[in-house]
Amino acid sequence: MQIDIISCVPALLESPFSHSILQRAQDKGIVQVQVHNLREYAVNKHRQVDDYAFGGGAGMVLMIEPIVRCIENLQSHRQYNEIIYMSPDGELLNQRMANQLSLQENIIILCGHYKGVDERVREHLVTREISIGDYVLSGGELAAAVLADSIIRLVPGVLSNETSALSDSFQDDLIAPPVYTRPAEFNGWSVPNVLLSGNQKLIDEWREEQSVARTHKRRPGLLAK
Ligand code: SAH
Repeated sequence: MQIDIISCVPALLESPFSHSILQRAQDKGIVQVQVHNLREYAVNKHRQVDDYAFGGGAGMVLMIEPIVRCIENLQSHRQYNEIIYMSPDGELLNQRMANQLSLQENIIILCGHYKGVDERVREHLVTREISIGDYVLSGGELAAAVLADSIIRLVPGVLSNETSALSDSFQDDLIAPPVYTRPAEFNGWSVPNVLLSGNQKLIDEWREEQSVARTHKRRPGLLAK
């Protein structure tokens, strides 16, 4: 899978893909993440990618031309399943969408900045718009990193123990059960005995019960499904 992220502040995306699971996914050759600097597709020598909004008002708008040039350059190398624009008014990201996107071959993620992008980009180029929540960020970069992370960890082969993604919250409309590690006793706070019992059947049953109880308490809406 290839994920191409288009940004006018690419430095914001350096760290998230350079460590831990996301770095290993790339090292294993399962996923390629490339960040493209919109300024390299600027239409003039001032590397301008934004301009004042027609009709006035505060805040700059990302121009359509650099975005088209960048997308066309990417499309000359491969076909894309989706061109996603990160947007606070897009579809709210959830695990089901991450699962679905993890099955795609190639994805472009476009990050807005300032007031957003020229609306014609959304009308004519973008195939999907995704939000990471009902709040406004300064730019789409952090949202793109969240989206890409949620997708990449689901691509087969990325997590060494593949069942570990399956047992995560939301994967089966249940919240994950609590987890503990050593020491078994700290400050008088002890780990549930069943987890130390060595009886895998009992442990599995306990985890299932905990998941259902937690889902009832924290996300009852999931059980209604
Ligand atoms: N004026 C816009 C917000 C622009 S914020 C509005 O009121 O809707 C600048 C950029 O940050 C957006 O173009 C988008 O790419 C990104 N962004 C902000 N909040 C986001 C969110 N909740 N989810 C995804 N992207 C977001």
